Amino acid sequence: MAHRVLIIEDEKQLARTLRGYLEQAGFEVLVAYDGRTGYFMARQEKPDLIILDLMLPEMDGLDVCRALRRDPDPTVADVPIIMLTARVEETDRVLGLELGADDYVTKPFSPRELVARVRALMRRLQPVGTGRTQRTALLRAGDLTLDPVRREVRVQEQLVDLTPTEYEILYLLMSHPGRPFTRSEILDRVQGLAFEGYERSVDVHIKNLRRKLGDDPRHPRYIQTVYGVGYKFIGEVTSDR
Ligand code: CA
Repeated sequence: MAHRVLIIEDEKQLARTLRGYLEQAGFEVLVAYDGRTGYFMARQEKPDLIILDLMLPEMDGLDVCRALRRDPDPTVADVPIIMLTARVEETDRVLGLELGADDYVTKPFSPRELVARVRALMRRLQPVGTGRTQRTALLRAGDLTLDPVRREVRVQEQLVDLTPTEYEILYLLMSHPGRPFTRSEILDRVQGLAFEGYERSVDVHIKNLRRKLGDDPRHPRYIQTVYGVGYKFIGEVTSDR
């Protein structure tokens, strides 16, 4: 399964470019545009690697790095970090590495080079078959099962025919039970959906998903509407494997 990279970068164009290159290279990508959001996403989502800009609004890159390294959860504290810096002074580089960044890249840089660094760091720090990725686990909630390896969804053992987008939305919600997702987060995080470009298309996919799963929106067993926010998966999810 794809490794997940969190980009914390306030230059949106650069973040988009990096996201494109990393997705092309087979990574799953999360993006935050300020330090505080990035810090919370890092703790919540536990990405496999973080690309962290030094100069950020809300909380700068060094503070984010320092806070993550002190986290009581080892999967958060040990996350590989590549620091992006526009400063060329040696002191900043040294400081970044001292605070626990694993590598740094000075702007401007080529996205290809950064992807190569990401790959190298993943190889160095995360041998295949170990580590924190559990993206192959079979997810179960009541009579609903989702198999990420086969990309199959079943209700009461019956295969449910989902479109790739419906599958991805269900996977996103089900792998974060109880966490509400806004429509724009769902748009951002479900590959292919961003091209549709407007938040109401999320509602259409959810409606179809519910119909196929036999989930009544008034008495949901799986997907609940969170008014004024978006959607969340309800019910206890267990994982096998
Ligand atoms: Ca910046």
